[in-house]
Amino acid sequence: MRVLGSAPVPLSASLFALGVLTACGGASAQAPLVIGTVSAAPGTMVSGTLEIAPRGSDAGASIPFTVIRGKTAGPVLALVAGTHGAEYVPIIALQRLRTAIDPATLRGTVLLVHVANMPSFLGRTVYYSPADGKNLNRVFPGNPGGTVSERIADAITREIITRATHLIDLHCGDGNESLRPYSYWITTGDPKVVDASRGMALAFGLDRIVVDGSRPTDPAASVYLSNTAITRGKPALTTETGGMGVVDEESLRLVERGVAGVLRHLEMQSGGPGLVVAPTWIERNEVLRSGSTGLFYGFVQRGQRVAKDDKIGHVTDFHGKVLEQIRAPFDGEILYVIGTPPISKGEPVAMIGARK
Ligand SMILES: [Zn+2]
Repeated sequence: MRVLGSAPVPLSASLFALGVLTACGGASAQAPLVIGTVSAAPGTMVSGTLEIAPRGSDAGASIPFTVIRGKTAGPVLALVAGTHGAEYVPIIALQRLRTAIDPATLRGTVLLVHVANMPSFLGRTVYYSPADGKNLNRVFPGNPGGTVSERIADAITREIITRATHLIDLHCGDGNESLRPYSYWITTGDPKVVDASRGMALAFGLDRIVVDGSRPTDPAASVYLSNTAITRGKPALTTETGGMGVVDEESLRLVERGVAGVLRHLEMQSGGPGLVVAPTWIERNEVLRSGSTGLFYGFVQRGQRVAKDDKIGHVTDFHGKVLEQIRAPFDGEILYVIGTPPISKGEPVAMIGARK
């Protein structure tokens, strides 16, 4: 096990009350690895479900997961899909990876969270849970007494992140986002964690890496899933592959290639692709937001190069009157652009990135 960063965050008394305490991740392969009610022996693959109990007016949620446990001790790599429920490529990629990773030859453990945000997945919503209107990737580390999104975040923090030594939060463009693949490398953590996270980004292999220096450093207010791992001393990555609710082979292969690259990099598997050669580091990025509610018309494609002041799109009211023009704030590349008409004030319409 590679020990990185600061000591684990103390577990609160409420967790003892829930009876979920077990050995933390990265322990010897001889010790039982227990998640929820599932116990994984070395050299086996087991699946189970974390149940989020109903509370008040909400129906709770289920979080399906799989533990692929190698025979020998090593890193515990958590792969989380479906933090946003309409981001299907990572969800389908994990369905395939579940049977592609062999516990007989694996060093360490892979934890697959198949669908983190089940209310959003089954409810077919983008950004927000239909149960509480919250964005799961803005409520970490969660709250065991909160709304369903906050309870899901709390369960993932306690049951998955606590046991992991490394984590990848696998996203894609949401159901309304036309996206060009890229990773986020978070640079606000412990320098050793930041450096190890950089290695994971190179190993995952996407050729655009957004350098993200804006994430909070307080583990009690980590906000984002991958940042919850980083603020707990665990190297992590957020990846973006695919979008628009489409499951396409090219995007699936990017995830499979990426995971295989990280497994090799962490010496969990002997084979696999090497580090990406000469990625573009996106040192400057901006999410362009609508100042109005209405219909969005995009004038650019994902991956398109644009110059400062080029028209990215415009927003009209519901009778067709143009309310605002959206222009590029600097020369750069369109990482994603909204591909469907609905837009509410304050929501993203596009993300632009540049080297500096
Ligand atoms: Zn997402």
